[in-house]
Amino acid sequence: MHTLTTISGMRAACDALRRSGKTLGFVPTMGALHEGHLSLVRAARAQCDAVAVSVFVNPAQFGPNEDFSRYPRQLENDSQMLAAEGVALMFTPGVEEMYPPGAATFVEVEGLSERNEGRMRPGHFRGVATVVSKLFHAVPADKAYFGQKDAAQCAVIRKMVRDLALPVEVVVCPIVREPDGLAMSSRNAYLTAEERQWATVLFRALTEVRRSFDAGERNASRLAETARAIFAQVPGVVPDYIEVLDPDTLLPVDVADRPTLVSVAARVGSPRLLDNIVLPGRAP
Ligand code: AMP
Repeated sequence: MHTLTTISGMRAACDALRRSGKTLGFVPTMGALHEGHLSLVRAARAQCDAVAVSVFVNPAQFGPNEDFSRYPRQLENDSQMLAAEGVALMFTPGVEEMYPPGAATFVEVEGLSERNEGRMRPGHFRGVATVVSKLFHAVPADKAYFGQKDAAQCAVIRKMVRDLALPVEVVVCPIVREPDGLAMSSRNAYLTAEERQWATVLFRALTEVRRSFDAGERNASRLAETARAIFAQVPGVVPDYIEVLDPDTLLPVDVADRPTLVSVAARVGSPRLLDNIVLPGRAP
């Protein structure tokens, strides 16, 4: 595995790979890698001849009171995990490389960026869209892999790629979970032992929504209410939102009669966790 820290070096390495006739899959991450990230790497390996992974904790997507400075950074460990997965290129730029002094150009996907997770985190998706578009320039690839775990991010990236006609195919991979259902996340490392127990309520609430859906419920408010009732059983967990949405527009739906995103975010103690499911729209 080659590790590169400059945009020009990374671009040259990707171009050389592709000139030799190989297809390239790209997995952008913020590091502190876990099985969720590795599932994206494995999907990329299965579908492309070579894989590139970026590890960059992007300051532009953190709000002023968020966890940028204490976000887990484990570059040495990440590097070993990626080498063991057969990754060809690792990109680990510094902040000045991605944001040269005075950088004043941003990418904003209007509308989507203010909905769902974006409503709770003003400026977050501007930071995400900006860094992902920069990463796409630094890592020219055939396909780029994202996790369904961040459903609103997937909607923003898909729309950005379409609106700007970026020459990359977006592939969205399923959520990887712990055995008890908790969606894997680098932020799970913040949870105390007690909070770790509480945290299972996100998936339990979503599972109950799915059960209700499978029993025939299609009314979005009643589906959300099902989740809210499960959250109410765990006082240490405070939901930020429970939303029933169109997965592309992130606008609320009244009736889950087509593929529908059920998205939850909650504070589990102090850490804030996300999870979601997609209802198929028709009983299977
Ligand atoms: P992050 O490092 O948190 O920015 O995540 C990098 C990529 O990994 C994003 O596309 C995430 O959606 C994806 N990802 C994170 N956790 C999971 C998970 N549990 N299952 C699948 N993908 C994930």
